[in-house]
Amino acid sequence: MTTLTSEFLNALATVVDAGAVRAGNVTETLDPGFDKANLDADVVVFPKSTEQVSATVRLCSEHGVALVPQGGRTGLAGGARSQTGQVVIDMTRMNQMLDLDSQGGTALVEAGVVLSAVQAAAGEHGLSTGIDLAARDSATIGGMISTNAGGIEAFRYGTTRHRVLGMEVVLADGTVLSDLKRVVKANEGYDLKQLLIGAEGTLGVVTSAVLALVPQDRDAVTALVSCPRADDALRIFRRLHGSPRGTLLACEIMWPTYARMTAAALKLDNVVNFAPDDDLFLLVEFAASDAEAGQMALEELLADALEAEEASDAVIAKSGEERRRMWQVREDSFEADKSLPHGFWYDISVPHAHMQTYTDGLFARMAAIDPAMVVLMFGHLGDGNLHLTVTRGTPMPDLHDAVDHAMFDGLQAIGGSFSAEHGVGLEKRGHLARLGQPELLEAMRAVKQVLDPKGIMNPGKVL
Ligand SMILES: Cc1cc2nc3c(=O)[nH]c(=O)nc-3n(C[C@H](O)[C@H](O)[C@H](O)COP(=O)(O)OP(=O)(O)OC[C@H]3O[C@@H](n4cnc5c(N)ncnc54)[C@H](O)[C@@H]3O)c2cc1C
Repeated sequence: MTTLTSEFLNALATVVDAGAVRAGNVTETLDPGFDKANLDADVVVFPKSTEQVSATVRLCSEHGVALVPQGGRTGLAGGARSQTGQVVIDMTRMNQMLDLDSQGGTALVEAGVVLSAVQAAAGEHGLSTGIDLAARDSATIGGMISTNAGGIEAFRYGTTRHRVLGMEVVLADGTVLSDLKRVVKANEGYDLKQLLIGAEGTLGVVTSAVLALVPQDRDAVTALVSCPRADDALRIFRRLHGSPRGTLLACEIMWPTYARMTAAALKLDNVVNFAPDDDLFLLVEFAASDAEAGQMALEELLADALEAEEASDAVIAKSGEERRRMWQVREDSFEADKSLPHGFWYDISVPHAHMQTYTDGLFARMAAIDPAMVVLMFGHLGDGNLHLTVTRGTPMPDLHDAVDHAMFDGLQAIGGSFSAEHGVGLEKRGHLARLGQPELLEAMRAVKQVLDPKGIMNPGKVL
């Protein structure tokens, strides 16, 4: 732990505009966000331009001071945690929508713009971002790029990586790499931006980006569908996703313990009470040429699913309020954790072909560790991304390794991932070290060494 010198702090104040450096007990005035340790650093700088980011990073490099880029501080893997002696670069003042090309379907935005602001601006032109997540009002485009965020629409449009056409970034010595292309095709040598996407601030600071937009979704019909098994849920997913009668916009899955505990915590038991006790839930959104056609198509597709005994029951939302309640049970995912705290969290990807056997095995392995173990599970079914909390409601540090192993057993062999969409940060560093292929890790360290030889960019994260 180092203390920043007054010489450094004075110099820092000269490279940004007045009042853009906060030092001391910064949590008195700033919200640390999802993780209290995000603001353990006692200096936060708020640059307003790429030039100011560059000057800040250059100064940190000259003084050997580590820095932690931050956006909305909604990250769930500890990637934005900071400590005394480090400088937080808070990007939220770089929040300008620089250009929206409605013809070409692109948006040039500064890194500190929040997702919902881009969604709203694109919506005015009948366009959308093709990416959505529950933290939309706080998560910034820079943070989403740096974590390669996934979310609800990834099964249709890919993750953030697939939405970025161009990017500007400040490297660890202050160099600005600006490649703000607005086209899909540009094979001009190594695509270095792809290295920065998902790098969690360890290779540079993202300052702006060009996003590829997609046509805005038509009015959707929302339904909560119950089904006996994960395999049934996948059959329903394929039935809706493959239907020529419309477009499946969202397909979220909730296992019964998660759905019922969350609904109870939110006093929304009536949302899930229609279903048999042990059944899973699918939250689906479906659109056709207009609302009436969407409603008719979804009703008929779900009737077919009931007939085929894939679904056991289904409720179609009859109002915006009913839709909101259904989504609340899915998106207020930390409510269940409050009732049963001290859990271990996981964010994994499971190939569809193995979803049933992997999840069956998982419940059995957790019960073998302790029959009182509760698995709270939900996720983005379309792309196989599951979020889990494994908990007994009491602290169980001695069981962490056993639960980790039970979680990851066989996951790689079936082509899954131990780190789906939240990134590695600090939380999954140990998993990456243990489960990552040594040759891949060596190549990652070599890249880090070249781009950040002094090791000042978000040190200790990922690798
Ligand atoms: C309720 C809730 C729901 C969520 N749902 C989803 C979901 O469905 N899918 C999903 O993928 N994630 C989800 N997340 C996680 C989180 O929203 C994403 O990881 C998001 O991308 C983080 O953006 P941020 O601006 O908050 O980044 P931060 O939390 O501030 O930072 C995250 C990481 O990015 C780095 N970083 C931030 N900005 C920059 C920058 N400009 N340049 C370089 N590095 C930078 C940080 O150093 C850190 O490593 C959810 C979080 C919450 C709280």
